[in-house]
Amino acid sequence: MKFKDFNFKSSVLDGIEAIGFQTPTPIQEETIPIIQSGKDLIGIAQTGTGKTAAFVLPIIDQIIRKDYQYVSTLILAPTRELVMQIDRQIEGLAYFVDISSIAVYGGGDGAAWDSQKNAFTQGADIIVATPGRLLSHLAFNYLDLSQLKHLVLDEADKMLDMGFYDDIKKILTYTPKERQSLLFSATMPEKINKLASEILVNPERISFSGSKPAEGVIQAAYVLYDDQKNDLIAYLLKDKEDLKNILVFTSTKKNCKSLYSDLTRKGFLAKDIHSDLEQNERIEVLREFKNHSFQILIATDILSRGIDIENIDLVINYDIPADAEDYVHRIGRTARAKSEGLAISLINEKDQQNFGKIEKLIETDIFKIPLPPFLGKAPEYSPKKNNGGKYKKFSHKKKNFSKNK
Ligand code: ADP
Ligand code: MG
Repeated sequence: MKFKDFNFKSSVLDGIEAIGFQTPTPIQEETIPIIQSGKDLIGIAQTGTGKTAAFVLPIIDQIIRKDYQYVSTLILAPTRELVMQIDRQIEGLAYFVDISSIAVYGGGDGAAWDSQKNAFTQGADIIVATPGRLLSHLAFNYLDLSQLKHLVLDEADKMLDMGFYDDIKKILTYTPKERQSLLFSATMPEKINKLASEILVNPERISFSGSKPAEGVIQAAYVLYDDQKNDLIAYLLKDKEDLKNILVFTSTKKNCKSLYSDLTRKGFLAKDIHSDLEQNERIEVLREFKNHSFQILIATDILSRGIDIENIDLVINYDIPADAEDYVHRIGRTARAKSEGLAISLINEKDQQNFGKIEKLIETDIFKIPLPPFLGKAPEYSPKKNNGGKYKKFSHKKKNFSKNK
């Protein structure tokens, strides 16, 4: 299948060619014709499968054909990073097309607010926004969504996780009932069904879930104690200059910061990114990482969903996410769009049970690499038994696991 089979306007095809897409991804193949037919849609596919272009392309094609003279499209996304990323993708794909979009997100100063406000007053075809910030603007009546044709909820699962349900519902009161609504999500928890049933009308459902990591990711793990983690990482990354972009995920800010200072002390070129950084600092760190100004980015989960950094050579899970789907998102950072990648997970005793769930979800037993002997003895891998002390009355049985100093 080729992009021209969708009968896009030639200026849209030019944009696709300029951005370098050769053929549609599976989710694009399935969803674009449905969107073109005007139906509502639920599209489920993991991170990195090309969901953005799946909705951007048919929508910009429609906008040119219909020549709307008002805000015709609203795209809601959970974070400012995602909003900017979608906006950039629109800019790229609509390069040969006379279409304008505005990115609206929180943070920044009064100037950011004013420039968003000015952009509204000048008008735009597409608004890409985080729900909270958009709602603040809507309170002031200079933004008219009453003629909206397309509503997109991108990363809907994440928006619900972040508590945007009420904001989304409020925003909808500014939009007409008669509109096309599209919901995209990487996962399909029950609460998404609820949201969808309230917002979408007779939606088609396209799902590529199964929660399989992108093909081409080589996955491996080490079973170890917490106090062996930093030394193992230093050992693994020593003299690995050929790995240009390494992304380490931690579950907590504390681990993120302390690994950062430890690796930096050991002479690695690393930076950390977490919610304590201001928005502009986060953007700067990401930019430097993309430009290879440093090798190792240590991040909390704020980065695991949706954010598109290409060519990650290695993803390390410093600890195991409690939500098995998040594992798939994290390692989705590597091996995007068909290249190859490597994902290594560090499993302490407490995380064994969660890792067991991940292996079940992805239907794979991930290879456990023996710990290098100089790091000392490793715990046994026994995810069923090691339940993180949840069943306290049995905890005496595990005493021998807990000391390895
Ligand atoms: P998702 O929203 O599903 O996480 P994105 O839309 O962010 O995925 O796309 C992931 C990456 O794949 C981006 O770098 C995007 O430019 C690229 N991409 C999307 N569609 C195609 C395509 N048809 N061919 C090649 N690369 C693509
Ligand atoms: Mg996306």
